Parts: sequence; structure tokens; C-alpha cells
Amino acid sequence: GPASEPKPIRRLNETLINKIAAGEIIHRPASALKELLENSLDAGAISIKATVKEGGMKLLQIQDNGHGIRKSDLPILAERFTTSKLSTFSDLSRITTYGFRGEALASISHVAHLSVVTKTKADSCAWKATYVDGALVDPKTGQKTEPRPCAGNDGTTISIEDLFYNTPTRLSALRSTSEEYSRILDVMIKYAIHNPSVSFMCKKAGSPTPDLSTPSSSDTSTSIRLLYGHSIAKELIHSKVSSKGKGKQRDEDAMDEDEEPDGDSESWNAELYFTNANYQAKKMIFLLFINHRLVESPRMKRALEAAYQSVLPKGTSPFVYLSLLIDPRAVDVNVHPTKREVHFLNEEAIIEKIADSIQENLAKQSHSRSFEYQT
Ligand code: ADP
Ligand code: MG
Repeated sequence: GPASEPKPIRRLNETLINKIAAGEIIHRPASALKELLENSLDAGAISIKATVKEGGMKLLQIQDNGHGIRKSDLPILAERFTTSKLSTFSDLSRITTYGFRGEALASISHVAHLSVVTKTKADSCAWKATYVDGALVDPKTGQKTEPRPCAGNDGTTISIEDLFYNTPTRLSALRSTSEEYSRILDVMIKYAIHNPSVSFMCKKAGSPTPDLSTPSSSDTSTSIRLLYGHSIAKELIHSKVSSKGKGKQRDEDAMDEDEEPDGDSESWNAELYFTNANYQAKKMIFLLFINHRLVESPRMKRALEAAYQSVLPKGTSPFVYLSLLIDPRAVDVNVHPTKREVHFLNEEAIIEKIADSIQENLAKQSHSRSFEYQT
């Protein structure tokens, strides 16, 4: 038929825009928890405690002993694009974490009741602030407020209450409280594996015993044993893979601990803990950290699982923990960091090299085993 008249373009109402934007970042309690954990770790915390009510939908509280937040920063804390981690455009390409968007707390304040209690070493008391829609507001009166002095330890406690109270469609997309709680535990367990020197604790509000508790100053193997059990821990292979870029590869053992990739943006290094063929699970357990952020890469997952094809019975899967450090400039910053999939420069080559290394290690192992049986 004949073309109809175009409808006028209208500006969306600002609170609606903010809620839509918030929903892109905070999908469920576990995604809010991930943001808070990253903030606590960025603040140098060595103890992080989570308290959860109703799968995090009623309350999600994170207490850390990090460096705290200055009182003077509290008024803009939950505004969009406020961050202490990025100040100039050139930082954007050099920043070593993903925690630079300054959107997490802002987003949370649009879809939940947010409150912060924080104390720096220099403060003589702690300060409490409550936020609604990005601003310091008392949720009871709806009026603008100021931070109030209160008792508290060094560090920061962030409480998120009534998540999605104002976005019913988000709320109805959530699963049962027990499923949301197990997602929370899953994120916490993975960060605990990646940060064995930090003590993590997670419990339901009112429960005397934590569901997760790790000591500080542990190491990766001990953490895996504690959190994933002996059946995985006793079959682990530990390896390192790296590439200097420009095709130059270094020997696995020639690499120092915690070495960051430097120089050209093609260099990277990876540390792996993965099970041998004796461990056979129904579903793959895969922990992928890129530059210390928990991310998903279905392509990486598929490639690593394929590396086991010749050693594992059909229908069984391994445990793999992979920490990959790449030049931050190589991470595609245009893909939103909270999107499920992350993309990075030379993805294919990096994936291939890591998968090959796993395959070699597995082959070596099965070779030495058959040799043992012969003698
Ligand atoms: P981003 O982490 O991208 O900077 P967020 O909204 O997550 O943005 O946090 C905003 C700012 O609030 C951070 O840059 C940091 O300065 C401060 N902040 C948030 N959580 C903490 C915390 N647990 N300890 C200390 N500072 C924090
Ligand atoms: Mg953050």
C-alpha cells in the first residue's frame, strides 16, 4: 500500500532511559554482585563478605576492607560515568581493568535502593549515604540528603535492597531465590579461585554458618581443592603459555609470576589449571578471567573442550581455569564488558595456542601413563 506518514520522533523520558541503561548492566543479583566484587578488589580489599536475603532480591550486601571512599566523593558516587579509575581519553586504552565505566553503582541506584557505608584510613568515623536514581536521596522521604556520620570499620559496605522493585519485567524474569543464590555463590567461588590471597565469605542473612568461606593468603591449588573438591584437585595440571607477539614464543618456564604483558599489543600470557583425563564431568566447568575480569568466551570454551576429544570419553568434560593477561588495548572496548561474550585482538591465534598447549600436556600425560603400565 501507499507509504504511511512517518511518526514524529520523540525523546524518551530520562528515568526510562536510565532504567533501560541499568538493565543492560544489572541483569540479576549475581551481575550486581560481580560489579561489587570487582570494586572491592579494585579497592585493594583482602577480605570480602557477602550477606544475602532471598537470593539477593531482597538484600545483597558486600562488606570489604579496601581503601574506602572519600566523604567528598560521596555526592557523585552513583552518578553515571563517575569513576576514580579513568580520567583522560588515553587512559581508556591503557587502563588495566574493565572497571572504568563508572556505571555500576549508577545503574544499581536506578533499579534498587542503594546505600553505602564507607571509611578511609584518614577518616575518624564512617559515613553513610543512600541513593535513588543516581543522587543522594533519602528513600523514605524522597528528599535530597547528605552523608551522615556513623560507626564503621575501614573499608566499604554496599547494600542493595529490593532489586528491580521499580522494573517489574526484570523482576519477573528472575528465577527462584535458590537459583539466584546459587548463581551468586558461583560468581563468588570463581573470584575466590582467581584471588586466593583474598578471604571471601558468603552467607544468607540470619544464618550462623557461611555457605562459602576462604582463608586469606591461600594459593590457587588449595582454593580449587577447597571450593571444587578433591576429585578435581587431585587431577590438576598446571601450565603457563605465553607469546611475545610478532610470532616469537617463549618457553613456558621462562616466565615470571604475575608478569604483565608489556611492549607491543600482541604479547600475552596465560596461566592454566586443568584436569587430566581421569576427571570426567557431565558438564564443563570453565573459569575464564581476562585481565582479572570474569568473562565468557564461547569460542574459547569450545576450543578447549575440543582439545580433550582424543583423551576423554564422549559426553564427558573437564574442569579448566584460565587466567589470560593481554594488552588492555587488545580488548575490544566497543563490546560492552558486561555482555556475555568478550572479544579481543588475535583471538583465534591465542585460542589455538592455548588449546594446543592443553592437548600437548594431555598427550604427554597419557603417554607417561601407558609407559608406567608397561613396566
Ligand atoms: P567503576 O568501577 O567503573 O569506576 P562503579 O560505579 O563501579 O564504577 O564505581 C564508581 C567509583 O566508586 C569507583 O571508581 C570507586 O572510586 C568507587 N567505589 C565503588 N565501590 C568501591 C569500594 N568497594 N571501595 C572503594 N571505592 C569504591
Ligand atoms: Mg566498578
